[in-house]
Parts: sequence; structure tokens; C-alpha cells
Amino acid sequence: MTTEPARSLPQLAVACPACASPAGELCTSHSGKRTRRNDTHLARRAAWVEAGKPAPVEGETAEPAELTIYRASHDAIVMGRYTNRDAARKHCETVLRREVGPDVFLGWVPDDGSEHAAEELCIGHDVLCSGYIVKPLTVDSEYDEEADE
Ligand SMILES: [Zn+2]
Repeated sequence: MTTEPARSLPQLAVACPACASPAGELCTSHSGKRTRRNDTHLARRAAWVEAGKPAPVEGETAEPAELTIYRASHDAIVMGRYTNRDAARKHCETVLRREVGPDVFLGWVPDDGSEHAAEELCIGHDVLCSGYIVKPLTVDSEYDEEADE
């Protein structure tokens, strides 16, 4: 996995007094040899609070050029489109629960390991496919003439 949960931490808005990582960059350990992907130094959090909790710096955390929505569907029928994966999942789970009852184990199985993989809701420990799928879709904020070929 290449996810970096620490990227969403607000204290990245200030430089870290512990490891001297600049604003907007992740903290590092072992004299800068390793990036701390899951958290930051505690001192950085304190520095951020002391600085008046500034907003994230421009750059990687800036507003994305595209928006991702999550489409819940069953077979070819679209059930709904949501701004977050949890809502799309909940829609599928709620509908499937009505069919299978409250005691059956349900689990989401991604198509592949990528962040934007579609997922299928599967039933029981045998992982039977249910046909309920949550698929992330990107929506562009700008018209790209060159991509419109
Ligand atoms: Zn640090």
C-alpha cells in the first residue's frame, strides 16, 4: 500500500520542530531516511496549535481538479451515486441485508489493490458474489478539449 494517512493531518501546515520537515511535507525518522506515513512528531502537533491551527498549505492538499463519486449498483441497475464510499457501501449493504438477513457475514472485495478499485459486496465466508458493486467514478471540474476525441 502506498497510502499516507499522515497527509491528512492538519499539523502538516507547519514545519516540524522535531525533524525540521518543512510545511506540507511528511515527518521523517532516522535522520531523514524514513518518511513517517502514519503520523507526525508530537512536537509538530503542538507547534501547529501554537501557530493558531493554520489551514493546510497549498499544493498537494489543495482542492483537487477532479471529484470522485461512488456509484452503488446491482447488476446493471444504478442504485445511487454518493460523495463518499461509506454511503455507497451502506446503500448496498442495507438492500442486501433485507435479502440475506441480519446474521450473514458480508464483506467488500476490491477488484485490485488500487485506491480507486471497484468493490463487490460478497456473502458469507465462502465469499459468494452478490452483484452489488461500489465503483468510484471521477468527475472533472474542467472541460479538456484534447481528451474529448
Ligand atoms: Zn517531525
